[in-house]
Amino acid sequence: MFDYQAPSQLLKDKIILVTGAGDGIGKAAAITYAQHGATVILLGRTTKKLEAVYDHIEKQHYPQAAIVPLNLDGAAEHDYIELANTIKSEFGHLDGILHNASLLGERTSLANCDPTLFEQVMRVNVTSQLVLNQALLPLMQKAEHASIIFTTSGVGRKAKANWGAYAISKFATEAMTQLFASELAEHAPNIRTNAINPGATRTSMRASAYPDEDPNSLPTAEDIMPIYLYLMGKDSLTVNGKSLDAQ
Ligand code: NDP
Repeated sequence: MFDYQAPSQLLKDKIILVTGAGDGIGKAAAITYAQHGATVILLGRTTKKLEAVYDHIEKQHYPQAAIVPLNLDGAAEHDYIELANTIKSEFGHLDGILHNASLLGERTSLANCDPTLFEQVMRVNVTSQLVLNQALLPLMQKAEHASIIFTTSGVGRKAKANWGAYAISKFATEAMTQLFASELAEHAPNIRTNAINPGATRTSMRASAYPDEDPNSLPTAEDIMPIYLYLMGKDSLTVNGKSLDAQ
């Protein structure tokens, strides 16, 4: 596991957006960020799940969260503008984004993949990250230091047969990490951009990809949080353009 011990109030007074915050790794990250002092904006497509995370954060007396129900498949420009306007009026700036939401899509060969489903995976896993960043960069430029974290995968570095659109979307995410990192270094040097490869983690996505695996043999989402804290907090201020492993 990535070796980092976060100070208890590492993210005190920080405003952090987490996508796919209702389940799996995104849920664990949202709660962990709140536990370390952040006000977390919970974005996801299933309102009930977001409400459960919100309630958990409230019960623990962490800073009050905010909920943004948004389906990244089919979200339109005005949805992103509205989100940016809401964050601007509520908080004035944004200190971090964890791009975590993803679709696994079809497990099939490229020769057989359905182009409509291919496009859906690319929209959710790639295009939405671009548009979200574009909408929120002005608010991140207002922060003293800001961190953008993308989520990659082993198959985003070395593709494996039948991982299809998902693998391609993660290669694209690796490229997006490098591009934002180098471009923002010139125009918005207070913003750093990196990616995390969670590695095999006990979530419903992993269970759909590997139905025969024993989930109890895998680390939980909570287990892999040290790197999520490290890249979001001030101990990683000089780290930019890296793709790091959580495990
Ligand atoms: P889960 O499927 O458990 O969670 C994914 C989250 O993304 C869910 O909350 C889901 O919402 C949300 N989401 C999916 N589609 C949309 C959409 N269209 N709009 C808004 N939100 C959406 O996955 P994991 O927690 O396992 O994965 C998290 C990240 O880690 C992903 O980027 C994944 O690719 C990556 N990863 C995971 C690995 C693992 O072993 N688990 C390994 C390598 C990478 P809802 O709850 O409503 O379905």
